[in-house]
Amino acid sequence: MIRFDRVVKRFGDNVVLDELDFAVRPGERVTLIGPSGSGKTTILRLLMTLERVDGGTIHVGEDCLTHVRRGGRLVPADEKHLRKVRRRIGMVFQQFNLFPNMRVLRNITEAPVHVLGRSTEDAERRARELLDVVGLADKIDAYPTQLSGGQQQRVAIARALAMSPDVLLLDEITSALDPELAAEVLDVLRDLARTSDITMLCVTHAMKFARDVSHRVLMFDAGKIVEDKPPAELFENPEQERTRAFLRSVL
Ligand code: ADP
Repeated sequence: MIRFDRVVKRFGDNVVLDELDFAVRPGERVTLIGPSGSGKTTILRLLMTLERVDGGTIHVGEDCLTHVRRGGRLVPADEKHLRKVRRRIGMVFQQFNLFPNMRVLRNITEAPVHVLGRSTEDAERRARELLDVVGLADKIDAYPTQLSGGQQQRVAIARALAMSPDVLLLDEITSALDPELAAEVLDVLRDLARTSDITMLCVTHAMKFARDVSHRVLMFDAGKIVEDKPPAELFENPEQERTRAFLRSVL
C-alpha cells in the first residue's frame, strides 16, 4: 500500500532521509518510533505531499505519488496528480485543526461534499455513523471550542475517515492531550484497528499504543531504520543499542 524506494530528502545541507526503503502492506498498521529529529514526521509529510522528495520514488497503492510517466519518461508529479493521489490518504495531526467556525457535523461533511462531490445527504449519513464510531453522536451540533481536546481529536479522526482513505496517517495525535483524554483517543483507534482493515502509519511516543495496535514497529535513528520488528519482539528484545537507549528514555 505504501512503498518508499531509495527516498532522499534534504533541507539545505541536512540530509534527513538518505535512500530510505520501506514498504507497508494493505491493512498493515505500522508505527514509527525514534528520537526527535530522526525523520519520522518528514515521512508523513512526504506522503501528504506537504514536502517533495529530492530523490527516489514513493508509491501509494497502484499509484506513484512522486512521479508521472510522460512521453516514456518519469517526471516529477504535477499538482493535479498530487491532488488525486492525496485523496487516498487521511491524516490526523497533533493539533486537531478543526474548522472553528463550523459545527461538528459540517467539519466532517465539508470535504466529502466539496472535494469528493458526495451529496449532502450521503455525507451526513456517513458522518453520523462515524460519530457513533468515535463515541460522539451527542456532539453533532457542537462547535469545536465546546469540546475537550480528546473529543476534538476524535472528531478529527472521524473527519479523516469520512474521506474513505486507503491509508490513515497519525502524527503524534495524543501529544497535546492529558493522559486521560489521550486514553480516550487511543481507545477509539484500538477499536478502529479491530474493526477495520485500513492501513495505518503512526508516529507516536505512546509505546503502549504502539504495542497494542501495530503489526510492526520501525525504529528510526538519523533517517535510517535501525530495527523493524513486531512490537512484542522489539519492546521485549531490542537488538540494537540505539533502540535500547531510546526505549529507556521513553518507558
Ligand atoms: P521527527 O519527526 O523524527 O522528530 P522530523 O522529520 O520532524 O523528525 O525532522 C527531521 C529533520 O529534518 C530534523 O533535523 C529537522 O530539523 C529537519 N526538518 C524538518 N522539517 C524541516 C523544514 N521544513 N525545514 C528545515 N529542516 C527541517
